[in-house]
Amino acid sequence: MTLKINALQIIKHLMVGSEGTLGFVSRVTYNSVPDYADKASAFIIFQSVEDAAVATHYLREANCTDAVELFDRPSLRTCENMEYMHHLRGLPETATSLLIECRGPNKEVLMSRIEKTLKTIKDNKILSLNKMEFSFDPAECTAFWDARKALIPMVGAVREAGTSVLLEDVAVPVKNLAKLCHGINEMFKKFEYHDGSAFGHALEGNLHLVFTQGFETKEQVDRYANMMDYLCKMVVELEGSLKAEHGTGRNVAPYVELEWGKKATDIMWELKALFDPEDQLNPGVVLNKNPTVHKENLKPLPVAHGVVDTCMECGFCESACPSGHVTLTPRQRIVATREIARLERSVVPEDASKLKLMQDLYTYNALDTCAADGMCATKCPVNINTGRLVKDVRAKRYDSDSLQYRAASASLAAFGAAMSVVPLGLNFVDLMHRTMGTSMFGSIAGPIGSALGLHWNKYVPMGASALKVPNSVAGAPKVVYLATCVSRSMGPARGDIETESIHEKTLSLLSKAGMDVIIPKDISNSCCGLIYDSRGLPEQGNVQIERLEKQLLAASDNGAIPILTDTSPCLMRMKEHFTHQGLKQALYDPTEYAAKFLLDRLDIVKKEDSVAIHVPCSSKKMKKDAFFEQIARACAKEVTVSPVPCCGMAGDRGLRYPEMSGGGVASAVASPPGEAMVIREPGMKNGGRTWPSEVKGACSEGFSSSRTCEIALSLQTDTHFKSIVYLLDRCSAPKAKTA
Ligand code: SF4
Ligand code: SF4
Repeated sequence: MTLKINALQIIKHLMVGSEGTLGFVSRVTYNSVPDYADKASAFIIFQSVEDAAVATHYLREANCTDAVELFDRPSLRTCENMEYMHHLRGLPETATSLLIECRGPNKEVLMSRIEKTLKTIKDNKILSLNKMEFSFDPAECTAFWDARKALIPMVGAVREAGTSVLLEDVAVPVKNLAKLCHGINEMFKKFEYHDGSAFGHALEGNLHLVFTQGFETKEQVDRYANMMDYLCKMVVELEGSLKAEHGTGRNVAPYVELEWGKKATDIMWELKALFDPEDQLNPGVVLNKNPTVHKENLKPLPVAHGVVDTCMECGFCESACPSGHVTLTPRQRIVATREIARLERSVVPEDASKLKLMQDLYTYNALDTCAADGMCATKCPVNINTGRLVKDVRAKRYDSDSLQYRAASASLAAFGAAMSVVPLGLNFVDLMHRTMGTSMFGSIAGPIGSALGLHWNKYVPMGASALKVPNSVAGAPKVVYLATCVSRSMGPARGDIETESIHEKTLSLLSKAGMDVIIPKDISNSCCGLIYDSRGLPEQGNVQIERLEKQLLAASDNGAIPILTDTSPCLMRMKEHFTHQGLKQALYDPTEYAAKFLLDRLDIVKKEDSVAIHVPCSSKKMKKDAFFEQIARACAKEVTVSPVPCCGMAGDRGLRYPEMSGGGVASAVASPPGEAMVIREPGMKNGGRTWPSEVKGACSEGFSSSRTCEIALSLQTDTHFKSIVYLLDRCSAPKAKTA
């Protein structure tokens, strides 16, 4: 019985380290560790790598630190221009630093660990080049750790197009850490990897080497292979391990015998044969008879498009993408773009048919179903906005002779007239909806919508009422109110509590606060151009944004008067594209404007028990989240903030591809995006994922600041979403006069 248990324990441990070559792990339970609120970090610079390594040795023995990260001299240079890191400029060529973190379940424990850490270094007479002290400032500590996290992407961001960022992962006993550092720097010089650097988890003797490498020519591949020979030999001589926290894979498989010797390697092969006699489990990984496998089948990164050529295919962007659950994640869009670029240059005859297939699939999967919201850039370590790539490729589809291009150009001259038809159309659809009821109208609207490429749902709003220009209020503070073309066209949805349009509610609010409201002249023709730009018609979009800038400069006295606009995506486009700095600074969304100019002029009552808010992705990028919460919390006892990064609606794109709005919700709640790299056909559902129950169940109403997003949010939650202006107007009254 004892023997049986031991055998199982042995198998369990073998399985954990086997990288899927002996079996697969179908279920894992993680035991999490507490993330203490009490923590502090120190960035200590030593004269030499030897001093840093000796300090690490003593800190390890003292057992008083929670993390110790080593930065070699090239790594320090990489991050010396980051905020809080300018003191790294001009350090001696031998400088090496340790980023140390101490944590504790309370202040007392934390302080005693910090004291012991500093005493350990001082008692062992190790001198530092800067003041040895811990920072408790969250901003500074975050900056230290951001620098650590940025070391890989920063090398990636400045690399030559067409090269890859490579990351190696080795470990040696801490006593040999300094020798390893010196050896790596010598190696980089010898093989001419001038951008190479080393950093990592010093307490474990684990260093990561980061460098860039092309694999286009035999010389490049040979240089890489020779460097690997050198590195592996050096690590083995330093009694180290060729892999520390990452997998051995195929790259280090040819060196397994060098590290473990023939006897141990033979035993590994025997085990492999016992578990997997037909060599079906992860074949070639860890154990491989081919001594040059690390030089074969190397994946090139062909130059494809300037916006994405620095992509490292790391996948950090995927969690923010609203369309990753529907079609492709940003990373997959980039990989597909690269493959198309490779196929276009290929001289292999059979690649022509592959190219055609890829291009056909690309249209729907990569282009049509991208929200172009740029949420991927918020997570990307090198700031790649795949939406920019997508817009650029969309634009290339329409040359100046195309029907779309000519129609868009023609619409510029009659924009106001064209937009005036939209509320009429929406009112007609609403009349049908009201007359027939949701179910019957839905069954008729479904096929018609499919034929027209615009899919109706019960939250499609009625038309907005006409915008009325308010009387001026002499002597009152002035505000320019830009009701966007969306809010001038789209009113409330059937079933909404309030039946007024957003601009009516906004004007009501401004009136209660006693503001003198200026409506820009010729407002019916104004538009920020987003509707053109997101469709791949940037030239027409530029005409509109330039026109709008002139209108607003005139209305706001060159930005001297604050400008309130009611639609967040339009606001972001204005902030990004206007050229007049003063005008940009004068622009506000409803929440920031209310927080800064209205709250003091109104009496607010918490009339609602529980509401949901969804901060649109554009507002998140403009960092308006706190204003949203502030306004909602002023009006409601409980506020649930939607965890969805982006609703996926993307203007009217979610009406043309209704599966997209469900994908936006799925990105916040479900399994990892791109889970099976499913290539879909247009119109397929997203797997029936639903809105998080905390939002769906807890609130009777939701608030946001983009009318089209609100349609998607309402549909996904079956909760009426509308502008946050409605909530504030409902809960506010003119300030009572004090006696
Ligand atoms: S675009 Fe995505 S995959 Fe590419 S570098 Fe950025 S986060 Fe990584
Ligand atoms: S949908 Fe948004 S997050 Fe996803 S690739 Fe397109 S722009 Fe990036």
